[in-house]
Amino acid sequence: MIAIEETAKQKIEVPPHPEWPELSDEEKNALKERIKALLKERNAVLVAHYYVDGDLQALAEETGGCVADSLEMARYGTTTDAETLVVCGVRFMGETSKILNPEKRVLMPDLEATCSLDESCPADEFSAFCDAHPDHTVVVYANTSAAVKARADWVVTSSIALPIVKHLAALGEKILWAPDKHLGHYVEQQTGARMLIWQGACVVHEEFKAFALDRLRRLHPDAAVLVHPESPEEVVERADVVGSTTALIKAVKEMPNREFIVATDEGIFWKMHQLAPDKKLIAAPTAGEGATCESCAHCPWMAMNSLQNLEQVLRTGSNEILIEEEIRRKALIPIQRMLDFAREHGIGPRPSGD
Ligand code: SF4
Repeated sequence: MIAIEETAKQKIEVPPHPEWPELSDEEKNALKERIKALLKERNAVLVAHYYVDGDLQALAEETGGCVADSLEMARYGTTTDAETLVVCGVRFMGETSKILNPEKRVLMPDLEATCSLDESCPADEFSAFCDAHPDHTVVVYANTSAAVKARADWVVTSSIALPIVKHLAALGEKILWAPDKHLGHYVEQQTGARMLIWQGACVVHEEFKAFALDRLRRLHPDAAVLVHPESPEEVVERADVVGSTTALIKAVKEMPNREFIVATDEGIFWKMHQLAPDKKLIAAPTAGEGATCESCAHCPWMAMNSLQNLEQVLRTGSNEILIEEEIRRKALIPIQRMLDFAREHGIGPRPSGD
C-alpha cells in the first residue's frame, strides 16, 4: 500500500518562462484586431484566468468573454451561445470547461500548459491510493486532471472547500484529500475533519517565505497581507486575509488599507489594479536571498498563454481539448455535486477556484 509520504513523489519538470518576442504597440494592436476578427468569424469567446498576461485578460473583457477563477471560467461556458471556448489558462481549466460543456469546442493556446498540482497526482497512482482507503470520501481540488476527478466523490475549489468538508465531517465521514498538501492542511485545521492528504504542492505558492514576509511587513506596517491557501502554513498564519483569487481581489477592493502585500501569482495584479487603481500592491517575497528561477511568483505554465499563440490557435483551430466520454461523464458527477451544494447552501452563486 502506498504510504501517505510516498504520494506526489514524482519530480515535477518546471519549464523555464517562455520568452515571447517583444511587440511594438502597432504590432500588438494589429494582433489584437486579428484576434477580434477571428473570434467573430469562429463564433468563439475568450475565457481567461486571473493569472494570465494582462493583455489577454483585457482582450477577453473587451470582446465580451470572461476573466475569472477556474470554476467560474467553466461555468461561463454554460451561459454563452458561442460554439467555441478558447480557454487561456492551464490544461485542467480547459478540461473542466469541456466536462461541463461537451457540445462546445474547447481550444487552448498551449496544451502543454499544465499545473504542478495536476502533475503531482497521476490518475493510476491516485486511483490505487483511493482503492487502499475505501472507507474514505474522496475530495479533490479543481487543479486535477479529468481522470482524477472521475475517481472522486467531490470536486472543490478554494472558496467552497471549507463548507463542503465541514459538511462531510459533520456526517462523520473520513476524507481523502488531493492533491495540494498546504490547502489540505488549512482545510483540516479550519474544519477539524480527519483527512488523509496527498503531498502535492503548487510550485508558485510554495516559494513564498515567512521570514522575508516578516521583514517586508516591518517596512510596510499598514499593509494588509493577502494569502492564497496553497501557500505554506507559516505564510498562511501571517495573513490578514486567506482566500481564493476572487476573495483576495475583493479584499483589495473593499478593505480600507492603502497597501497590500499579496501572496499569490502576480498575474492577479492586473484585475486588482483595474478594480482598485488607487491601492498599492506589493508582491510577497519568494525565496529572498538566493532566489531561484522557480521563485518568481508567476506560474510558468500560465505564462505559456500569449497573444501570439492565441491568434495561431484561432486561425488554425488546433489545440482542441478532447476527453474520453466515459471519463467526462464520471468527472461531471463530483463537479455537479459541488455546484448543487453551492446552490443549496446559498454559497456563490459563483464560488471561486484557484
Ligand atoms: S499557479 Fe500553481 S496551482 Fe495555479 S496553475 Fe500554476 S502551478 Fe498550478
